[in-house]
Amino acid sequence: MMTKEEKEKLENHIKENIEKLKKDIVSYKQLTRPIAPDNAIGRLTRMEAISSKSINEATLRRAKQTLSKLERVLKMADAPDFGLCRTCEEPIPFRRLMIVPETDLCVECAETVS
Ligand SMILES: [Zn+2]
Repeated sequence: MMTKEEKEKLENHIKENIEKLKKDIVSYKQLTRPIAPDNAIGRLTRMEAISSKSINEATLRRAKQTLSKLERVLKMADAPDFGLCRTCEEPIPFRRLMIVPETDLCVECAETVS
């Protein structure tokens, strides 16, 4: 199991990630605003704008998903099964949680699921 210090470190790490994601989401939202009509910008520029808009939309969607997962993890931080794998109920290594704090699967189970 995680030590008290590790848990605190992880919680702070999650909070930092949440703050960062919220800022990212604001800037991605600005990047996914409607594109100006053809006559306002060149045709090629418009095509580029459309393609980067859809990339940014995908990034925005992912960021929102990660954010809601992180917020859920943070709420669960005081639950007795915090840091345990959802499938095999073994503790998820602290190192893995620091890299992907939004996960609720250990490495082996994550590989089986995906
Ligand atoms: Zn597992």
